Amino acid sequence: MSKRAISTEQIHHAYRAPEGWDAFPVGVFKASTVLFKNTADLHKLRPRDGLSYRYGLHGTPTSYTLAARLATLEGANHCLLTPSGLSAVTLVSLGLLRPGDEVLVPDNVYGQNRYLSESFLPQFGITHRFYNPLDAAGLAALLTPKTKLVWLEAAGSITLEFPDLLGLLRVCKAHGVITALDNTWGSGVAFQPFDLLPGSGPGSEPGFGVDISMQALTKYASGGADILMGAVCTRDLALHERLNHTHEHLGYGLGQNDVELVLRGLPTLELRYRAQDATTRALATWLQTRPEVAQLLHPALPGSPGHQFWLESSSAGAACLFSAVFKPEYSARQVDAFVDALALFGIGYSWAGPMSLAVPYDMSHSRALGLPYAGGVIVRFAIGLEALADLQADLEQALAVFASS
Ligand SMILES: *Cc1c(COP(=O)(O)O)cnc(C)c1O
Repeated sequence: MSKRAISTEQIHHAYRAPEGWDAFPVGVFKASTVLFKNTADLHKLRPRDGLSYRYGLHGTPTSYTLAARLATLEGANHCLLTPSGLSAVTLVSLGLLRPGDEVLVPDNVYGQNRYLSESFLPQFGITHRFYNPLDAAGLAALLTPKTKLVWLEAAGSITLEFPDLLGLLRVCKAHGVITALDNTWGSGVAFQPFDLLPGSGPGSEPGFGVDISMQALTKYASGGADILMGAVCTRDLALHERLNHTHEHLGYGLGQNDVELVLRGLPTLELRYRAQDATTRALATWLQTRPEVAQLLHPALPGSPGHQFWLESSSAGAACLFSAVFKPEYSARQVDAFVDALALFGIGYSWAGPMSLAVPYDMSHSRALGLPYAGGVIVRFAIGLEALADLQADLEQALAVFASS
């Protein structure tokens, strides 16, 4: 055969990595087209089980490896990956709710989940109600035959009340309502969401725990403040299949370079979680003693809302977040000046990355129920991997702003 043109040669080149090639890092397999051996292979039925491939949108060996490792991390059997944490939230609500259904959402839920329920789901005839996550009896009173999904979040966003997780789950189980936990905070390290009470273990038997655990991998699993991704884990196959059906219709795909970066971060996930947790508790305990602070919100601190529930279900971990409620005599302008005076804390959203962050929040209009925090302007701190002494010194110098402004 005469020599082929350069492009043809490059596209149809014969070299392949040898059989048995192996190394610790997982290969980055990118594909839209997945090649079949022949037409008989093409016509074969392929279950979407992570072992037989049909089209790159549904996954490649790289993304199925990440999904398998996350399922193990969560104590689940199945995991679906999504392009962001928010798209994982959306997958659960759109996957399980139909016209006429109602979803119950904790009042301190992640803000975008709140907006989804308030502004988007009503277009499909799906109603919502907010509940107080510290009050399991209150949740029981809201359940009706229309209730098809209860969202949980531990701890809640910004004000970090830790819910009565066991009490809320007992209520939902007694009524046969599906529960979905936003487990970004616990991240699979602080507690095992499918086995909140001892006596059960991973496998197909139901444990005492949630039905669905969803995470924004954007936070801890990535750890680098550079990736957006989400995961939805389940133990029950039928529930996984319902969600997978929606996942395929929504066309959620992932960049395999991003998947690789998350895989790279998983071996250090627990080390990072524990290091950030330790620095966060030390800083929160210290900041609580400062005269400028009215209330320190951190579930591991006695007196913080839901502390006793945190002791019941999560005392092995407490993440990297706390919020300081400043005394009401300080104006929003003064609190902004304090945040601007911080040198080591970036101002911006997200958390669990290497750099510490601080964001002021005015909570006066963003909740339906009165949850137990003191009022006043809140600053939510996300603690990174900097040294404790440096962060404390930075907070201390910035607090001087309150005396001078
Ligand atoms: C960040 C976050 C999300 C959303 O994740 P994105 O990747 O930013 O879309 C969902 N829930 C919680 C609790 C979060 O902190």
